Amino acid sequence: MTEETIFSKIVRREIPADIVYQDDSVTAFRDINPQAPTHILIVPNEPIPTLNDVKPEHEPLLGHMIRVAAELAAKEEIAPDGYRLLVNCGRHGGQEVFHLHVHLLGGRPLGPMLAP
Ligand code: 5GP
Repeated sequence: MTEETIFSKIVRREIPADIVYQDDSVTAFRDINPQAPTHILIVPNEPIPTLNDVKPEHEPLLGHMIRVAAELAAKEEIAPDGYRLLVNCGRHGGQEVFHLHVHLLGGRPLGPMLAP
C-alpha cells in the first residue's frame, strides 16, 4: 500500500486547508506557501507517490486532474491571461510531497519556465 502523506489528511479534512474543489476522485486546495497570486494543488484522493507510479488505468484520473485545473483557472479569472500547470517528479524534479499533485500557478507573469 502507498504510504500516506499530509495530503491524504487534507483530502479527508483531518487537518485544515483552504479546499477550493473536491469530488469523488480529486481534491484541490491552496498551497500553504504560494509562489504566485493563485497557487492551487490538485491531488488524487487516493495517493499515487509520483508520476513514475502512474499506470494505464490512471489515465482518466490524470485527465480529470488537468480538466479540474483548467476549470479552477477559469474560476480564479486567470484563464484569459494564462497560467502554468506543473508536476514535480522525484529528487531532480524538486518533489517534496510524495503524493502526486498538479500545481496551478497564475495571476502574474510567471517568467521563464526554469530557474537559471
Ligand atoms: P512539490 O515540491 O512536492 O511539487 O510541492 C509540494 C507543495 O506542497 C509545496 O508547494 C508546499 O508549499 C506545499 N505544501 C506542503 N505542505 C503543505 C500543507 O500542509 N498544506 C498545504 N496547503 N500545502 C502544503
